[in-house]
Amino acid sequence: MPPARPEPGGPIVVIAGGVGAARFLEGALAAFPPADVVAVVNVGDDLEIAGLHISPDIDTVTYTLAGLVNPATGWGVRGDRFTALDRLRALGGSGWFNLGDTDLGTHLYRSERLRAGAPLSAVTAEIAAASGLGCAILPATDGRLRTIVETDAGELPFQEYFVRRRAADIVRGLRFEGAESAAPAPGVTEAIGRARAIVIAPSNPFLSIGPVLAVPGLRDCLLTTPAPVAAVSPIVGGAAVKGPAAANLRSLGHDVSALGVARLYADLIDVFVIDEQDAALAAAVEAETGVRCLVTQTLMHGPAEKRALAERTVAAALAATSRGKNDDGDA
Ligand code: GDP
Repeated sequence: MPPARPEPGGPIVVIAGGVGAARFLEGALAAFPPADVVAVVNVGDDLEIAGLHISPDIDTVTYTLAGLVNPATGWGVRGDRFTALDRLRALGGSGWFNLGDTDLGTHLYRSERLRAGAPLSAVTAEIAAASGLGCAILPATDGRLRTIVETDAGELPFQEYFVRRRAADIVRGLRFEGAESAAPAPGVTEAIGRARAIVIAPSNPFLSIGPVLAVPGLRDCLLTTPAPVAAVSPIVGGAAVKGPAAANLRSLGHDVSALGVARLYADLIDVFVIDEQDAALAAAVEAETGVRCLVTQTLMHGPAEKRALAERTVAAALAATSRGKNDDGDA
């Protein structure tokens, strides 16, 4: 039987965390028709504060693609004020998680809809549509999945580690509470199964992509889809562009390099995209992992770089298919 082929008209699926993924997705939306793009987004960062359900990665992706994001931080809403948070703090309420006034409106809406019984995927789609987005934003799961970070100070819920303690603790391990009973959200496995190409965004492999892959069935779906899978390294020149990815690689016993990231994804991907600064690692990535390497500019300074990265990543993935990803090595 001939191997299954990816659907030429299928979507481009991006497995996404927050800020790095959102910037890649901006490029994807500039390069491809929005209706062809599906983001599958991490929910391990979600939390409840003051009775509100907050989905930081979904919001970062949504605000960025809607042109609302605060460019100085990469999250939150541009020009937002914090009068509600100031009042909450003055009253002795929980004030460590930054919630702007406009941002709060999103959380109020989401929380009310969830309390009324709507699944997170439906609420996320409503917010995306109301924000004018033409692409699909899917939470990895509608279930309750929470990233728990194991540190020398004990186990910390993700945002305690990331925001409250400023990612200063050394990460010794991770677990994804609730993952065992989670299922992919509606549309996730279908999108991966009929994708034209799949891209693991330049996101933190442990904290952003790890929880997505922990949803039962999702990793298998990536392994069995006929679509080619590419990943973009979040590590450039041996450092993270932003955030704790380099420190996480080190403390969890991995090489702090694009090669270290390639090893993490090797079983899932056909193409690994590394920065020009790391060109010298390409041969080692290909020899050791058997994954084809694309060396290109991966630092997304502006719209042109974002679009070029999305175009080149998808083109390299499609080329991997035509060279026979699904031909059992006979191509
Ligand atoms: P978070 O959940 O908001 O931390 O966001 P992500 O996990 O999606 O993104 C954080 C990762 O994106 C970090 O490891 C960064 O190194 C990476 N990143 C951010 N901007 C860029 C960029 O322009 N190019 C590349 N290659 N990686 C980036």
